[in-house]
Amino acid sequence: MATLIDGKAISTQIKDELKEKVAQLKAEGTKVTLAVIQVGNDPASSVYVGNKKKACEYIGINSLAYELPEETTEEELLKLIGELNERADVNGILVQLPLPSHIDEDKVIRKIDPSKDVDGFHPQSVGALCIGQKGYVSCTPAGIIQLLKRSGIEIAGKECVVIGRSNIVGKPMALLLLRENGTVTVAHSRTKDLKEVTKRADILIVAVGKPKMITKDYVKEGAVVIDVGIHRGADNKLCGDVDFQDVEGVCSAITPVPGGVGPMTIAMLMSNCVESVL
Ligand code: NDP
Repeated sequence: MATLIDGKAISTQIKDELKEKVAQLKAEGTKVTLAVIQVGNDPASSVYVGNKKKACEYIGINSLAYELPEETTEEELLKLIGELNERADVNGILVQLPLPSHIDEDKVIRKIDPSKDVDGFHPQSVGALCIGQKGYVSCTPAGIIQLLKRSGIEIAGKECVVIGRSNIVGKPMALLLLRENGTVTVAHSRTKDLKEVTKRADILIVAVGKPKMITKDYVKEGAVVIDVGIHRGADNKLCGDVDFQDVEGVCSAITPVPGGVGPMTIAMLMSNCVESVL
């Protein structure tokens, strides 16, 4: 039977550590403030923004909410980010994605001062990760490293396979595993014989964006499986990119959906916010 990697418990542990740190900082006269910008009212985005605000409250981070109408222009959004960049009392800036189609996301990400880029999406943050320099790391992959480390799973020397090469998950994930001395392979939609590649993995990270695509045929006996995917099925239940029931019998450890990677993303965002004042 596989060990369940409990993202809910590990994220709570991290948030409690951060809460203590924030209280200590407050006692020394330093406040942590995150500005959260949402444009439009996409229901999924509103849920994510709400969860981020709740996490801020729990930890003691001050959050400034900017809920802008759908018709906000790119210029107006860039101006707001420019103002927040200048404000000494704002430590982190987060723009909830996706943005309405009339706004260029790339321009918006680039406008955020890299010293306040707590999402880790700015090209300077990504570049720093790539060459091993200090900078903010994208929250989902950073959370996965914490899940592995805090579950006592050694990365150094292991065969690590990442399915997916997106800028926010797959690529930074591969770079982080490399930084931890894993032997890393990145698979994607053009990979030939995906099963042959994934069956080499001691640690398999699945960020393919396809509900329950990864069955036991893709998994080596005893592998650790991390499921990044999140989907709502026709039955209204959440599921991941991994067929949990099928894979659970062959792997040594696995993350559930929900309760695996998801809660870690917010915990690492909070961690980046605290880091912004250190
Ligand atoms: P993207 O859609 O941006 O990327 C998916 C990747 O999977 C692409 O690189 C694509 O390859 C690859 N891919 C697609 N089909 C196949 C296939 N048949 N075989 C091999 N590779 C394939 O997704 P994201 O990285 O943004 O997200 C991945 C999943 O993680 C989604 O389910 C998303 O909802 C979830 N997610 C969860 C988060 C959390 O906090 N839990 C946070 C972020 C994402 P190619 O590049 O060639 O097209």
